[in-house]
Amino acid sequence: SVDARVAKISSLVRTIPDFPEPGVQFRDITPLLADPDGFRETIDVLVGQLPGPIDVVVGIDSRGFLFGAPMALQMDVGFVPVRKPGKLPAPVFEEDYLLEYGSSSLNIHRDALRPGQRVLIVDDLLATGGTLGAAAKLVAREGAEIVHVETVIELAGLGGRKHLGECGVTSYSSIL
Ligand code: AMP
Repeated sequence: SVDARVAKISSLVRTIPDFPEPGVQFRDITPLLADPDGFRETIDVLVGQLPGPIDVVVGIDSRGFLFGAPMALQMDVGFVPVRKPGKLPAPVFEEDYLLEYGSSSLNIHRDALRPGQRVLIVDDLLATGGTLGAAAKLVAREGAEIVHVETVIELAGLGGRKHLGECGVTSYSSIL
């Protein structure tokens, strides 16, 4: 059942207190990646939660790659990376976003998507939504259509869903 799979996935995510700095409860997915049944079930549940057909998966640097790329292969669609600055070799779009302290930015190749393509955006975790919101703006700048945004984990109560909505995302789900 889905409930049993969700319980198994939950048991394979551990919380490390005060990493990378005091006060942060870090959700560590490395035990999940190390368990082939749990990892496969995570990909199956993420694919099963999709509300409709997509043409391409956009995964976010770097833990979004670990879930987005296997999903793309399973669905027989392409995978596009959204990366930290200075990593992509061809011309890019760039979006800045706020962190708890300071700011950062994300890039996507300008020729990575075509107008009208149906896109799924994937990351490991939604916290404040700054990261996924910036990714959504990059996909919008390509002229592509964001069908759904998905994460393994949501830290509810940090305003992430609201921020996603402000960035044009109308459909979001997580497993945990
Ligand atoms: P945010 O932009 O605030 O939604 O943060 C989401 C990004 O930061 C994701 O790429 C996560 O991998 C990472 N992140 C934020 N908070 C945590 C946390 N408590 N545990 C693990 N990763 C986190």
